[in-house]
Amino acid sequence: MHCPFCNAIDTKVIDSRLVADGNQVRRRRECLTCSERFTTYEMAELLIPRLVKRDGSREPFNEDKLRAGMTRALEKRPVSVEQVEESINRIKHRLRATGEREVQSLILGEEVMRELQSLDEIAYIRFASVYRHFTDLNEFREEIERLETVEKEP
Ligand SMILES: [Zn+2]
Repeated sequence: MHCPFCNAIDTKVIDSRLVADGNQVRRRRECLTCSERFTTYEMAELLIPRLVKRDGSREPFNEDKLRAGMTRALEKRPVSVEQVEESINRIKHRLRATGEREVQSLILGEEVMRELQSLDEIAYIRFASVYRHFTDLNEFREEIERLETVEKEP
């Protein structure tokens, strides 16, 4: 990077160390032109991407909203708060891992369904029926039958 003092292009790293529990690299640099020293910090960009909704509008990822949606689907189901939090962490991890600044909100919906499906089938159906707006009853019935078949398998 350019020297912030004289704008020269060449700087050399004179010291490099891990800081913030190893989540950042602190580099001490010296300008080859003016000999001034400065510090840079480098960290992985782990932002959760913004969500692009069906109508094209954008909204920031909202963890509370995600938790509320999942909790609603899981109402009175035998799933612990810890399990829900683990699911939320997995979802956040996968969203971050996309490395994108924006993703279709559809992707979040699919992630939630994937998690709910492994947590509790009833919650999954509840969520999916609202989320996917099952257009006709047959589609909904097919999904239930599919799940029942899976359940019957040893
Ligand atoms: Zn300089």
